[in-house]
Amino acid sequence: MRLSQAAPQQLRELEQSLSEQYQAFQTAKLNLDLTRGKPSAEQLSLSNELDGILNGDYRDSSGTDLRNYGGLDGLPEAKQLFADMLGVSAEDILVGGNGSLPMMYFSLQTALSQGLAGKDSAWNLQGPVKFLAPVPGYDRHFTACQHLGIELIPVAMNEHGPDMDQVEALVQADPSIKGIWCVPRFSNPTGIVYSDEVVARMAKLGHIAGEHFRIFWDNAYAVHSLDDNAPALANLFELCKSAGTEDSVLIFGSTSKITFAGAGVGFMAASANNLNALKDALGFSTIGPDKVNQYRHVKFLKDQATLTAHMQKHAAIMKPRFDAVLEQLNAELADGDIASWTAPQGGYFISLDTRPGLAKQVIQLAADAGVKLTPAGATFPYGKDPEDRNIRIAPSFPSIEDLKQATAVFITCLKLATVRQALAQQ
Ligand code: PMP
Repeated sequence: MRLSQAAPQQLRELEQSLSEQYQAFQTAKLNLDLTRGKPSAEQLSLSNELDGILNGDYRDSSGTDLRNYGGLDGLPEAKQLFADMLGVSAEDILVGGNGSLPMMYFSLQTALSQGLAGKDSAWNLQGPVKFLAPVPGYDRHFTACQHLGIELIPVAMNEHGPDMDQVEALVQADPSIKGIWCVPRFSNPTGIVYSDEVVARMAKLGHIAGEHFRIFWDNAYAVHSLDDNAPALANLFELCKSAGTEDSVLIFGSTSKITFAGAGVGFMAASANNLNALKDALGFSTIGPDKVNQYRHVKFLKDQATLTAHMQKHAAIMKPRFDAVLEQLNAELADGDIASWTAPQGGYFISLDTRPGLAKQVIQLAADAGVKLTPAGATFPYGKDPEDRNIRIAPSFPSIEDLKQATAVFITCLKLATVRQALAQQ
């Protein structure tokens, strides 16, 4: 039923029956969690072979003893593996520690205080520093900026990526905008893949935004498709090279959702100028990364064919979880006017928009019935969703049975909040 066409009496009856359903859930004392995009134990187990894979062989192909210090920018074999994954050359790669977020944070810090193109280029010397934040987006990108005193300016996302008209106009008008956050493939949380046109316009952004501007291209879900027809992502680095803007982009990735989250390998790709500046700074904070773990990953993931086969095993675990949520949303909400949501072909999230003004309330109702969701507003800078409508659903971690139960509770809360709002607005 479309709520906008419901008569007052129908709405009151609906509210009554939804309240009863909701109370039944409350009595069941559930404890379910749809908050963070963590891989399930079943997914993590796909990589258990990492343990012991070196079998006492601690020398890489060039004879380096991996147990010792050194190799600031990573093992050559690891550079090659991740370069092939990102579609760049091994010389463009820096392989780091256990994840990509520390590399993003380190890049922000270095750009702010040391500069990526010599001392005079430090953002801190140039007045206030601002970043564009396509919304909804990834909360940790936003909180890293907030922590470092970088002001965030929201820009709208559509199904092709950030609204590039808005992005171009903003960077043209305000030179204190020094960067933009992008999750270009299976974006967190909407799951969309940036279109070729958006990537092509990103490649030219450096010309409009000036020499100090950097695109933080967080390709966290580069190889995380759920089906074979998922759209490919255009190669930003290649396009930047053709446009002469290769200094304007920093590309990040990791194996957090390929092998072990928290015990994987983070890596980044950038121009020689950017990499040199980052390596200089890095040399003051570490003698080198965990080469043993890098080599374990090289032995385990081997090459792109092995990586693709491994990711298909992830997809086989993830797809039924996405389907479990999407099937229920479609069955319960498709013919109404209660919410809209994304049906991603990869990544870790489903993004759902309620009617304006309801996200907080739905999340609170769910929490009171034992189902934790990502806090309302988390997908926006400063935790403020101006329309209070976006909810991020992370289906990876719970069992399918728990996921179905949690989704049923969530849908009841969503309907209940919407019907109550409709009644209040009469
Ligand atoms: N970027 C995005 C877009 C993510 O969703 C996540 C994890 N949820 C990360 C980065 C974190 O990456 P890592 O584990 O490599 O630090």
